[in-house]
Amino acid sequence: MTKVAIVTGGSRGIGRATSLKLGAAGYTVVVNYASNDAAARQVVADIANAGGSAIAVKGDVANEADVLALFAAADKLGPLKALINNAGIMDRQNRLDEMSAERMKRLFDINILGSFLCAREAVKRMSLRHGGAGGVIVNQSSAAAVLGAPALGIEYAASKGAIDTLTIGLGREVAAEGIRVNAVRPGIIDTEIHDSSGIKGRVQMMRDQIPMKREGKAEEVADVILWLCSEQSSYVTGAIVPVAGGRC
Ligand code: NAP
Repeated sequence: MTKVAIVTGGSRGIGRATSLKLGAAGYTVVVNYASNDAAARQVVADIANAGGSAIAVKGDVANEADVLALFAAADKLGPLKALINNAGIMDRQNRLDEMSAERMKRLFDINILGSFLCAREAVKRMSLRHGGAGGVIVNQSSAAAVLGAPALGIEYAASKGAIDTLTIGLGREVAAEGIRVNAVRPGIIDTEIHDSSGIKGRVQMMRDQIPMKREGKAEEVADVILWLCSEQSSYVTGAIVPVAGGRC
């Protein structure tokens, strides 16, 4: 039986690691991405070379038409079993009194609206109420949601607070409809997202603030996402799992 997984932002960082692991676990993976065609092509090739199956679908999760096209592409492959709501951005390190409305709106559109639109489309396909066969949604929160990220980017932190609420609320909304909704709450993970902060070596600078005294790897987050997709977490819903080396 084909089982399809959509990974938004599946071409780099945590999304890439998750796409590779889902491919190895037998999912047909739909690797969504925004602009970097080469990175997306590479993930698809890596999954195929390991004996799995994947396609890449370009599209901005903040754009409803792109989201509908993404899910339509997935529909052609088989029943959707998993949505990894991973796509997200960070902006330059700034205080609130230095942020433009455009900056905040762009980030909220990608990090919040994008995840809501994708979750809506997943529920329409997976819910027993709509004739679906159930499935899982895993959202990407962040330690910032509980730490607040003062003077770093509280708009980013607040966007992840919204993801926490989406996880709790939707988890309960569809719990009796065969869908489990959970989130991971990563701390400092070594990916390219930190380059957007404008601070060189940001990941290394943060090490002292992490109880385990090291940053995490994308694969360490992907392993928890895979567990949340699996039957091993069959009684877990509405949960937000910290993957932060003890930081939150
Ligand atoms: P990353 O390395 O920068 O990768 C981001 C991915 O998202 C890329 O595949 C990118 O595609 C895609 N993307 C960006 N904007 C998009 C859009 N509008 N529509 C569709 N795809 C889009 O990021 P990451 O560090 O892996 O972060 C992944 C998620 O984890 C984010 O939600 C982030 O907030 C969260 N997170 C990360 C950390 C961390 O320390 N890294 C900690 C906590 C939470 P292109 O390459 O085509 O641009």
